[in-house]
Amino acid sequence: MKLQVASKILGANERIANENANIMKGKGIFSINLMSSPGAGKTTLLEKTIMSLSPKLKIAVIEGDVAGSDDAERIDKLNIPVIQINTGGGCHLDAGMVQDALKDLPLDGINLLFIENVGNLVCPAAFNLGEDIKVMLLSIAEGHDKPLKYPNMFQTSSALVINKIDLAPYVNADIEKIKKDALSLNPSIKIFEVSCQTGQGVDKWTDWLQTLSS
Ligand code: MG
Ligand code: ZN
Repeated sequence: MKLQVASKILGANERIANENANIMKGKGIFSINLMSSPGAGKTTLLEKTIMSLSPKLKIAVIEGDVAGSDDAERIDKLNIPVIQINTGGGCHLDAGMVQDALKDLPLDGINLLFIENVGNLVCPAAFNLGEDIKVMLLSIAEGHDKPLKYPNMFQTSSALVINKIDLAPYVNADIEKIKKDALSLNPSIKIFEVSCQTGQGVDKWTDWLQTLSS
């Protein structure tokens, strides 16, 4: 019974996700579903990315959070179209929430849309939002055991951004193990090592984004 309910929910989600994909394709928008645990640095990565790529690329952001509008306010300071979604307790975004946000966003002329998912290493991987790709962000402070503990997140992602590498001397994290395990789960995953605090490695990530959305 439970399984039947789950597959019904995912079936309805898939239909709306296809509509979202068509809306974005129609506007020539490349979209990225950015996933991570809380505090890995999703919004900070977006700030650095926007500062580097805007106005070369026209970027918009959908912010997903359980509550509050802190992240949308941060993005708004960069003069980028942004919509905040509050899930009201829900631990992931679904395609219907994103469709509502797409209706409110000025989509004309946008090249690149980031959908910052709710911080969670489980269900965001299961819900298609209609995005072109998923990207997984992992901070080294979370520990090197995460790929093997949360494999779906890494299997469904086209890229893994390893953040906070400036903390390497202070935390017990083996970056080589993170990379090896992520590649064992998903041999084609593209891996970036960055520090959003110092800016190290961010250029490689933004260079890659430019090749995707042009
Ligand atoms: Mg955030
Ligand atoms: Zn969830």
